[in-house]
Amino acid sequence: MSARFPDFRLGKVLATSFTGTLSERHGDAVERIPTPNRLVDWLAVSGLAVESCTSTQLERAWELRESIHAAATAAARRDPLPVSAVQVINDCSAQGRAAAVLTPEGNRQWRLSSTSSVEDALGVIAADAISIIAGERDGKLALCASPTCQAAFFDTSQSRTRKWCEMNTCGNRQKKARFNAYKHENPGSAK
Ligand SMILES: [Zn+2]
Repeated sequence: MSARFPDFRLGKVLATSFTGTLSERHGDAVERIPTPNRLVDWLAVSGLAVESCTSTQLERAWELRESIHAAATAAARRDPLPVSAVQVINDCSAQGRAAAVLTPEGNRQWRLSSTSSVEDALGVIAADAISIIAGERDGKLALCASPTCQAAFFDTSQSRTRKWCEMNTCGNRQKKARFNAYKHENPGSAK
């Protein structure tokens, strides 16, 4: 049923997986959570299952997403953080009532409050964004080198020289573009 919606791109970092639900921000933007139900689906696969979602809650989620994107982009550029974005992130963080719990296997999971509301889930995402932007986690915020993407991503590679938000999408596209340009300039030389 959900096949008619764009796929999710799930990364290992919650906050930037969330900002990745809108991709190609500087090209033909793709909205991957266009409906409240699609946000419910995304939260479920991200370990933050909620009971339901209203259109107002979806709008709040979009607002948080774009605030995280703006703040993470500023942080990657070492620019001052946008005040309004910081406000939204902080408000969402304060409104959530989720608890970190330890599983018997030693993994960390999130337990939302008894109402399992979207606000609880957004609180977890906001707190995740705060930990990255504050530089508390091992990694570096960077911007995707694809001109149509420019997504902020969290580089946890050893060398901290990752160029693209995702190798499978932006990375491959850039490589193909370079290959085609090379073929054009050197006809016959590229196999
Ligand atoms: Zn990208």
